[in-house]
Amino acid sequence: MSARVLVVDDIHANRRLMEAKLEAKYYTVLLAENGLDALEKARTERPHIILLDVMMPGMDGYEVCERLKQDDATRHIPVVMLTALNDREDRLRGLEAGADDFLSKPVDDFALMARLEALTRYNAVASELRQREATSAQAASLTDEEQNELSRSANILVVDAEQRIADRLITPLKAAGHFAMSWQDSQGGRAKSRDLDLIILSMSNQTYNPLKLCAHLRSMDSTRDVAIIVTCDPQDREIAAQALNLGASDIVQTPVDTQELLARVSTQLKRTRYIEILRRRVDRGLELAVIDQLTGLYNRRYMLSQLQQWMQRASVGGKPVSVIAFDIDHFKQVNDQHGHEAGDVVLQAFAERIRTNVRPKDIVCRPGGEEFLVILPETPGDLACVGAERIRHAIAADPFMLQRSAEEINVTVSAGVATFLGEDDTLANLLHRADTALYQAKQSGRNRVESVAA
Ligand SMILES: [Mg+2]
Repeated sequence: MSARVLVVDDIHANRRLMEAKLEAKYYTVLLAENGLDALEKARTERPHIILLDVMMPGMDGYEVCERLKQDDATRHIPVVMLTALNDREDRLRGLEAGADDFLSKPVDDFALMARLEALTRYNAVASELRQREATSAQAASLTDEEQNELSRSANILVVDAEQRIADRLITPLKAAGHFAMSWQDSQGGRAKSRDLDLIILSMSNQTYNPLKLCAHLRSMDSTRDVAIIVTCDPQDREIAAQALNLGASDIVQTPVDTQELLARVSTQLKRTRYIEILRRRVDRGLELAVIDQLTGLYNRRYMLSQLQQWMQRASVGGKPVSVIAFDIDHFKQVNDQHGHEAGDVVLQAFAERIRTNVRPKDIVCRPGGEEFLVILPETPGDLACVGAERIRHAIAADPFMLQRSAEEINVTVSAGVATFLGEDDTLANLLHRADTALYQAKQSGRNRVESVAA
């Protein structure tokens, strides 16, 4: 997987060196020599990742990062800051400025490639989800609640055969507000893996095969999306590289620097939670697209697509599909006499009564207003009439409660039944016949079921 990387550094030789390293790994490289240049290129060239030098004359890296993160057009681009060796102050300032990751100068090639690979993979998922979200303007910014979610405390599992080493990591994680426990303790306490947010997995341990464990965690539903940070001895880089290939999210070298670990933990948590938020939004978008928000029934769009599919099956030799069109009798009077709020209560109760009086395979829809439609798959017309009669009776049998006033009102419904006639029939004709039957029911005094003979 490749990516477009913007390299920002004030020193020409540094830019060229980085360019050569990245191009050797087939990244596409863009260069910027100062802050303004970087902001301009980030906006116009839309790089996937930005490698940003901290020390630059004029606008320094912190300010560039802040500005990138304030701009809707660039805030989603991960920024990796290049800081002086092990300078904690630098890193803290970088975090505050919104940096996504850090690398120490001089840049270690292995660490550089590990970060880029992890970011490239993350980018691929995040950008796909952002694209699937209906409104891209909304996608760039998170609500306050979602922002809080990114930084809430996490459940962290530390996997190291040596309890002493695990404890050395657990103490600072707890001090930072997380819930952390060792592998040994979790098995004693039977922690549920589904509640985990992050796993820290030692690669330098001999009592289990760390790569096998990494692959196993990625293959299980409960831990598939959990971030994994592997810790490894500088000599075990080959194993660490394989771990990345198996889906580990990041690498920290041993002996572990506590500050670095905490920064990487927070980065990984932010990424996995951001992905979670995007996934949820996509799901919600899909739901909004097919569900009527007032009643929870399927909307007109879904109704038409389902009907089309069942008609297609019927026309290639499947059993017939029927529909029942419902219209609440004198619904306008409910609204006029009791108000629109009462009208909504009736619509919701009405929907519920239909739902509890159909078979599991029937599809109950609210195409609009006080109209409802039930699709009855694999059902001939006479059976559909029986179903319609059952619903009509269930509506008329008991009055509806108007919540606020505890008042009761009687509601009745008229229904029209129609059945798909085979390949010469069309969706429009089928719905038209159901409407005609419904009209007849209204004309014949309401609170009744009619069907149109073919
Ligand atoms: Mg510099």
